[in-house]
Amino acid sequence: MSSSEQGQGQSAKLIDLSSLKVSKELLSSCIHCGLCLPACPTYLVSGLESQSPRGRILAVAKSAEEGSLSDRAAQHLSSCLGCLGCQTACPSGVHYEEILDSVRPQLAARRTPLLATLMRFSFAKVLPNYWLLRLLGYLLHFVQILGLTKLPYLLRAIFPDSFKVAVKVIAKLCDFVTFTPSMRLPRSLAKEIERTRKKSRSEKMPPLQFFRGCVMDVFYNHVNLDAVRVLASSHNLQLPKQTCCGALAHHAGDSDLAVKLAIANIESFQNTDGEIVVTSAGCGAMLKSYEHLLQGWQETALNEDLIERARLFAGRVRDFSEVYAASLKDSDADEFISGGRKKVAYHAACHLAHAQGVRSQPEAILDYLSKVGLIERVELENSEHCCGSAGIYNLINTETSLAVLDAKMDCLEKCGADVVVTANPGCLLQLEAGVKARRQNVKVMHLAEAAALKNSNPG
Ligand code: SF4
Ligand code: SF4
Repeated sequence: MSSSEQGQGQSAKLIDLSSLKVSKELLSSCIHCGLCLPACPTYLVSGLESQSPRGRILAVAKSAEEGSLSDRAAQHLSSCLGCLGCQTACPSGVHYEEILDSVRPQLAARRTPLLATLMRFSFAKVLPNYWLLRLLGYLLHFVQILGLTKLPYLLRAIFPDSFKVAVKVIAKLCDFVTFTPSMRLPRSLAKEIERTRKKSRSEKMPPLQFFRGCVMDVFYNHVNLDAVRVLASSHNLQLPKQTCCGALAHHAGDSDLAVKLAIANIESFQNTDGEIVVTSAGCGAMLKSYEHLLQGWQETALNEDLIERARLFAGRVRDFSEVYAASLKDSDADEFISGGRKKVAYHAACHLAHAQGVRSQPEAILDYLSKVGLIERVELENSEHCCGSAGIYNLINTETSLAVLDAKMDCLEKCGADVVVTANPGCLLQLEAGVKARRQNVKVMHLAEAAALKNSNPG
C-alpha cells in the first residue's frame, strides 16, 4: 500500500488539535496488548503496525500530546476502514469508534477544496435526492457502455495537482458502480406498500415505518421491495417522508450536515411509537447513533428536548433481520421445500455485526431457510472481516480496499458458495465487483432477497 495513496486529497499541513474531543482516559484505555491485530483487515494486508488499531490509537495519543495532527498520523488514520472489527475483538473494551470519530473533522480539514466541495455536494444534494442519484447511476452506466471509463484517468494528466484527487474519485466511481437490475426497472416502493396494505387481512398488526436509504433505494430497489413483501404479512407498513441518514457525511467528518439530516429524520418519524425498519446496515448503525451524534454536537448538546427525541428515535430503529427473525415461527419450518439447494455463505456487514451487534438474527434467518430446505449453509471464514467497501473508502483508498476485498474473495472461493448473502448496499456493490473481477459464478444477495425465497417457494 503506497503512503501517497493514503495521503491523497490531503494538503501537507499540521492540523491544530487543540479542539480535539477525545479524553486521555479513552486513549489510555488501550493497554497495547495487540489482541485486536488479527481482526484488523488493514493490518492483515499490510503487516504494518502503523496500519493497526494499536498503531492508530498511539498516533492519535501522540498527536493530542503534540497539539497537531502530522501528515504521517493523518495517513495512518485515513487508511482505517472504520469497520470496528478491532472494537469487537478488544478485551479491554476500548471504544475505538469514539477515538476515530474525534479526529474525523481534522482529517476532513486536510482535503483539497475541490474534493471537499465535491463530497459536500454529493452528501448534501445528490444522495438525499432520489432523482439526482438515479441520474448519476444512468450517467455512470452510459460512460461504462460507451467504454469511456478510462477517460477520467487519461484526463488526469491535464488537470492541476489540486484537481487530481477529485478526478481520481470520479474515475473510480465510473469503474466501480454496477448497473443493477433495479436501475433498469425501478418499481415504486410506496405503491408496493399500498398494495401489501390492501391485501392484509388484519387491522391490528403493529405499525412499522420503513427507512428506504439512498443507495439501497436507487441501486437495490428490489431489496426494499422484497423486504416490504416479507414483512407485510406481520406488520402495518408505513413510508414516512425521509432523507439520507447522514452516515457518509458523518464518516467524512461533516458533522454539520450529518446533524441537519438527523434532525430532519427525527422530525419525520415521530408520529408513531412503532419500530423503524431499515435494510441498509450502514444507515441502521447511523440512525441508532443519533442520540450520540446530537450529544456530541455543540449546537444541539444543550437542547435536551431534541436529545430526548433522538434517544426515542434511535431506540425504535431495527435492522431488517431483527424484525424478520422475530416474526419467524419454528412451526413454519416444518414444511420442507425440496429442490436444488444453493450453497449460501453469509458475509457480516461491519455496520451490522460490529456497529450494531446484530449477529444472531441473520444467522437465524439463514438457519430457517436451511431448515425448510431452500438453501444449504456453508461457513465463510472471517465472515466478520470487512470486505473493503467502507462507505467511499474504496473510491479514495482503492489499493487497500482491493487488497482487503481480495482476502474476502479468497475465503469465498474456499467455501464453495453459490450465493453470498449480506446486509448493506456498500457490501453488495463491493462483493459484486469482486465476483466480476474473478469471474466467479457466485450470486450476491441481500438477506431480504434470501428471505423472499420462501415466498416464491411456498411449500
Ligand atoms: S485496542 Fe484493545 S485489543 Fe487492541 S491493543 Fe488496545 S487494548 Fe489491546
Ligand atoms: S476500524 Fe477496522 S481498519 Fe480501522 S483499526 Fe479497527 S479493525 Fe483496523
